Amino acid sequence: MDNCLFCKIAAKTIPSSVVYEDEELLAFKDINPAAPVHLLVIPKKHYSTLSDCGSDDAPLLGRMLALAPRLAEEHGVSVVYDTDGQPTRGYKTLINSGPDGGQEVYHLHLHMVGGPRPWRAMR
Ligand code: 5GP
Ligand code: ZN
Repeated sequence: MDNCLFCKIAAKTIPSSVVYEDEELLAFKDINPAAPVHLLVIPKKHYSTLSDCGSDDAPLLGRMLALAPRLAEEHGVSVVYDTDGQPTRGYKTLINSGPDGGQEVYHLHLHMVGGPRPWRAMR
């Protein structure tokens, strides 16, 4: 898509802080982080919203989601268990879809947000 910000980031015609890349996916730091760690995972192929995806896209969507715990581990926000077996730390994974969903950039993206709270409120 010619006029899509995240297609330009995927094509590297607009710079970003890339933290992961493969043939299908790119992950980079959000320019306006809501928390100590705020990453965005995108497919390199353009989908405007999650509603553009069908069952054929399930493997791609699965890969996007499965990347989150790996990124969490690499950025120090993975869920860990204390000596009582209680979970500590953690992160949020979020896809905003459409205006009522709070979506601002119309290229499908998964937010991975984590680190010690408080965090800025997200739309
Ligand atoms: P949405 O509200 O669409 O789910 O989230 C869009 C996200 O993209 C926001 O968190 C915003 O800060 C981020 N963003 C917008 N423009 C840019 C940009 O040029 N570079 C990067 N790295 N992030 C951006
Ligand atoms: Zn795009």
